[in-house]
Amino acid sequence: MTVAPQLAEPVLDELRGVLGGEHVLTGKAARFNRARVPAPFPVHRWAERVPDLVVLPGSTEEVSEVVRIANAHRIPIVPRDGGTGLTDGAVPLRRGIVVDVKRMNGIVEIDEVNRTCTVGAGISMLKLNEVLAPYGLIYPDDPASYPCSLVGGRIGTSGWSLIGSRYGHSRDLVLSFDFVLPSGKVIHIGDGAGRKLSKSSSGYQLKHLFMGHQGTLGIATQATLKLFPKPEAELSPFFAFSDYDSAYRTVGELARAGVATFAGAVLFDEWKVDYLRRDDEAYIPQPADVRALVCAVAYGYEDEVTAGGRRFMRIAKENGARYLGDEVSEGDWAARHDRYATPLHGRTRAGQVVPMSWHCEDAAVNYSELPQVRLEWHEIVRRLRERFDMFDDWGMFTYTSANTGVDYLTEIDVGIWEQQLDDEAWAAWVQAKRDIAEVSLRYGGSISACHGSCREGEVDLVPQELGGGYDVMLAVKRAIDPNNIMNPGKYGLDRAYDTDDDTDGGTGP
Ligand SMILES: Cc1cc2nc3c(=O)[nH]c(=O)nc-3n(C[C@H](O)[C@H](O)[C@H](O)COP(=O)(O)OP(=O)(O)OC[C@H]3O[C@@H](n4cnc5c(N)ncnc54)[C@H](O)[C@@H]3O)c2cc1C
Repeated sequence: MTVAPQLAEPVLDELRGVLGGEHVLTGKAARFNRARVPAPFPVHRWAERVPDLVVLPGSTEEVSEVVRIANAHRIPIVPRDGGTGLTDGAVPLRRGIVVDVKRMNGIVEIDEVNRTCTVGAGISMLKLNEVLAPYGLIYPDDPASYPCSLVGGRIGTSGWSLIGSRYGHSRDLVLSFDFVLPSGKVIHIGDGAGRKLSKSSSGYQLKHLFMGHQGTLGIATQATLKLFPKPEAELSPFFAFSDYDSAYRTVGELARAGVATFAGAVLFDEWKVDYLRRDDEAYIPQPADVRALVCAVAYGYEDEVTAGGRRFMRIAKENGARYLGDEVSEGDWAARHDRYATPLHGRTRAGQVVPMSWHCEDAAVNYSELPQVRLEWHEIVRRLRERFDMFDDWGMFTYTSANTGVDYLTEIDVGIWEQQLDDEAWAAWVQAKRDIAEVSLRYGGSISACHGSCREGEVDLVPQELGGGYDVMLAVKRAIDPNNIMNPGKYGLDRAYDTDDDTDGGTGP
């Protein structure tokens, strides 16, 4: 593989001058490793996405210098943290430089009085919480990828937390951050002049703009985060149901019950229960009459969690639930951080076990629309399976988002035997993703609740979801990144540079 012409020796020398030679990686293994995400999809096009170069900056100043050099030479830059994103956000579509911020993983400050900490963007939530534990504090951003996704990637995706119904999601928990713009200029994003305010009305509210952009507007380097008292007690009862409808009713009632310690609830549909029973070694097999599962989660002081738990039990039992017992409940909730990582195989229609990778389509959907969305999504995957024997329906999860039960993260997991994908099957899969996204929009949802929508198929419908807002997005991208160096090709934002496009901020017809 040849290196892009812009990355000729003089540019490498400039970068080595800033970072030191050992932090400018040109070797094949370093580069191929940074092309990879958990589902290296599609395998037959993977090699197109290998970066020319990987840099490992150690400070905001170094990131700023790298970006300034890249901007001067018009070299694409892709920020990368844990590389666990499920929509190819950290995969370079135009090659160029991957800026891997993992070295920036220090803890700058723990402020016990104001209940905040300031950390490098390259730290994981697991590591951070290990350090916070002796202070009796937690940082409750808790995705299933908790041990391996990093704070900067959570900012890049505006991620979703499994216990967000109590504590909020990444966007609520990140108070402010240092951010390197595509020019190399460093700004501080957040409310107020300091780092630790949670609310101001001064000027535009920029925090949300600079979260969830998938690295298309710049690079977060250091963040100040909100902390909470480490909960004294945790309760996570798992309930089994003989039908989906009762489980669905239960989730809604749990979320709307107004229990203050309620941190979240998860609903597993019958396809998911079948899949887990069949192929997930971490899962404790359930009797055949179990068709759906619900897990409710509460965090807080012992006495309040106990009282809230009694209400959970009553609600579930009134809806026909069978409590699965303390051991199963604790075990399955603890498995929330590794369950996704285990499946590496699925089944053909005939039941033959074959190597498959995991593809997860997520959407934000209102509670009232979940049953219909679920049926239409499974129907799309059923039709796909009928035509091609390389897809497997791994079922659906639904998670509460807010404590009011208004909207849910809902995801359908599909196993794909990627080695078997040819152009026809690939086109059919992209169309299926488009169809899945179209269903979410038709029911008033959003294409993605947390992963973002950068992959083929889903990304096509983003302009439709955002309407005039997409024109604003194009105008913002062009204004902030005039040379399109930041993660080019993502979100269809290349069209911001097509002068025929309507990029007037939505003021046109
Ligand atoms: C097993 C598993 C379970 C998961 N469960 C969840 C879940 O429950 N909730 C959830 O929200 N997600 C989940 N995900 C998806 C993924 O973990 C999240 O999207 C996470 O936020 C990505 O973080 P990361 O550090 O791995 O970022 P990366 O994958 O490295 O990057 C993600 C995006 O952010 C950009 N980016 C990275 N660093 C920066 C930075 N410093 N500044 C600006 N942009 C940056 C990248 O360019 C890319 O577009 C899961 C993934 C896996 C593999």
